[in-house]
Amino acid sequence: MQEFRADLHCHTTFSDGSLSPIQVIELAKQIGLSGLSITDHDSIEAYESAIPFAQANGLELIIGAEFSASFDKVSIHILAYSFPADHPDIQNFCHQHQLRRQNRNRAILAKLSECGIPITEEEVAACAESETIGRPHIAQAMMKKGYIDTIYEAFRKYLGEGRPCYVYGNEFSVQETIDIIHRAQGLAILAHPHLIKDATLVKKLLMLNFDGLEGYYGKLPLDQNSKWVEIAQRKGWIITGGSDFHGDVKPTVPLGCSWINEETFRRIQQHRK
Ligand code: AMP
Ligand code: FE
Ligand code: FE
Ligand code: ZN
Repeated sequence: MQEFRADLHCHTTFSDGSLSPIQVIELAKQIGLSGLSITDHDSIEAYESAIPFAQANGLELIIGAEFSASFDKVSIHILAYSFPADHPDIQNFCHQHQLRRQNRNRAILAKLSECGIPITEEEVAACAESETIGRPHIAQAMMKKGYIDTIYEAFRKYLGEGRPCYVYGNEFSVQETIDIIHRAQGLAILAHPHLIKDATLVKKLLMLNFDGLEGYYGKLPLDQNSKWVEIAQRKGWIITGGSDFHGDVKPTVPLGCSWINEETFRRIQQHRK
């Protein structure tokens, strides 16, 4: 029997990934994954096609999403898992995020124009396949028009936090986000905590009522995982893991490069029962 591996963090064309939900599930099967969670940014639209396709192809799914939230104006990502896909609180929350993104994207485009990079909303929309549009799509539009050569360059020069065209997203607070996920019977997980550079902020976040943290991530070396695994174990938190696969948008990160075992998968899957 092949080892049970589940990748609990990946993106599709319903946010900023380059593969459709069906293509991601096909790829997951090809590389021998037994379980998957699609965690699009602020969206669960992928599940409409993903649920029946995964079922027909014998891949176990945990419903998920990755919500952007803010703590003291710093952007924090929170993974939500194992809530009912039709829960009105989550659906309403995703809708509010779409409206928030629309306003923010307009403000980013205004700043880009001031920097001599005129890009229209239509040009950005042409780079996205869903309503969940963000900076990676703006970066693609900039690349298409020849202003930059890579998506990384767009973030480094213009769109990244602290760069001239960065716009704070007016995100929901971390606590609001945790509360909504809990109201929807989901698990709230602090995503990729190693990416948060401010140690004081990490301490504050670890005091909140998360259910777990993402201890295994992308190509994070195993010796760096141990810190997060120990913290989670001390708290009795769930330790999740996944690749943060985005397809061509982040070509160096393959699906399945980080994963969790069956025991953790079942714990997350069955937490409501
Ligand atoms: P947004 O949700 O619009 O704030 O965009 C954030 C997304 O942009 C992240 O989830 C990543 O997929 C991507 N991203 C963030 N920083 C970078 C970077 N430096 N280079 C490339 N992609 C990035
Ligand atoms: Fe992303
Ligand atoms: Fe993230
Ligand atoms: Zn992600």
